[in-house]
Amino acid sequence: MKIGVIAETHEGERRVALVPDIAAKLVASGFEVFVEADAGEQAGFTDDAYREAGVAVEADRKMLLSMADVVLSVQPPRIEDVAMLRAGSASISMLQPASQSSLVEALAARGVTAFSLVLLPRTSRAQSMDALSSQSSLAGYKAVLMAANRLDKFFPMLITAAGTIPPARVLVLGAGVAGLQAIATARRLGAVVEAYDVRPAVKEEVKSLGARFLELELETQEGEGGYAHAQSEAFLTRQRELMTGHVAANDVVITTASIPGRKAPLLVTASMVKGMHRGSVIVDMAAESGGNCEVTQPGQVVEVDGVWVDGTTNIPSTVALHASQLYARNITNLLHLLVVDGELKMDFEDEIIRGCCVTHAGQVVNERARQLIEAAAAPQAIQTEVR
Ligand code: NAD
Repeated sequence: MKIGVIAETHEGERRVALVPDIAAKLVASGFEVFVEADAGEQAGFTDDAYREAGVAVEADRKMLLSMADVVLSVQPPRIEDVAMLRAGSASISMLQPASQSSLVEALAARGVTAFSLVLLPRTSRAQSMDALSSQSSLAGYKAVLMAANRLDKFFPMLITAAGTIPPARVLVLGAGVAGLQAIATARRLGAVVEAYDVRPAVKEEVKSLGARFLELELETQEGEGGYAHAQSEAFLTRQRELMTGHVAANDVVITTASIPGRKAPLLVTASMVKGMHRGSVIVDMAAESGGNCEVTQPGQVVEVDGVWVDGTTNIPSTVALHASQLYARNITNLLHLLVVDGELKMDFEDEIIRGCCVTHAGQVVNERARQLIEAAAAPQAIQTEVR
């Protein structure tokens, strides 16, 4: 079986889907692996490193796309790549049906079996393939470093002969995978951390990391599969009222709140930003899905009323080496599940395969993908592409 790894072409994407040491294991288990020239360059992996791993480096992208049985990538192939893919071949990537519906249709029409790691069920069995978790965890860590770098204060408490510096105060909104890693990182740097999430189940995890869980007088509900429900506008208005004082009292606010397939909830308004001390920092990790902060500019860092608002998108790409290593493990674990005796085996009885297969045999076969595409056409849609 021929595995093709394409170079990422999406602006700002520095990751690569397969790294040399994991490629070597695939080669050892009988796969033929091809990588597009320079695919790993920005993540720190040279073409020579792939060659040493037994991988063939292919300069011609069209050739690579047309000969591969399975194409691996971080961002999905471009729409203009689809015509080059063989009917019956497979693509595994972070395809986002909600914002890439035309690509989904093109892949289906071409007869490509497309898998999206974004749709992978979040079950214990799928954990080793869970790219959303591996990438969110890195992003949560990096978001705190970005904030610390911009803040004109120390994070830890410092007692010096010239006086005592109090620790920085950090508020983390949303305590999913990214939020918990942000809490842990900020605590390791010595900050005093408080956090809030609409899912009461995370309270103990927040506390075990040494942060305070904000008890807001709000009736919250957990949604399906451990995810948050979309809260009502009345709930979010009340949440913002109750949170205003906490936002103002912190030096750094890291927002990570999101609802799968929907526009991110608005947690920090422009007037709440105005209430913060000059020099404070907000890192809005939901910038790509509409932003948790009203003044966030996706992909930019802006200063608003003396407060830095960081809307950097695709944060995992800024730690491209480790992000690629973890992603490569996730994607090859899924590959091993899909390939039996050197052939793609589409066992739709398997909840992992059924959950993340988007197109097969000319059809969009995934109910959740269909729902996301429909929801994206609604007014509250997510308009951006990269995760
Ligand atoms: P996510 O990125 O979808 O959302 C981030 C966080 O934002 C969530 O914790 C959510 O509750 C929170 N949020 C939403 N609206 C909010 C609001 N108005 N105010 C404050 N917070 C708000 O979440 P995620 O990190 O992908 O993880 C979501 C869930 O999936 C978690 O329960 C996690 O433990 C679970 N999970 C399970 C597995 C597994 O079992 N394999 C793997 C990963 C994640």
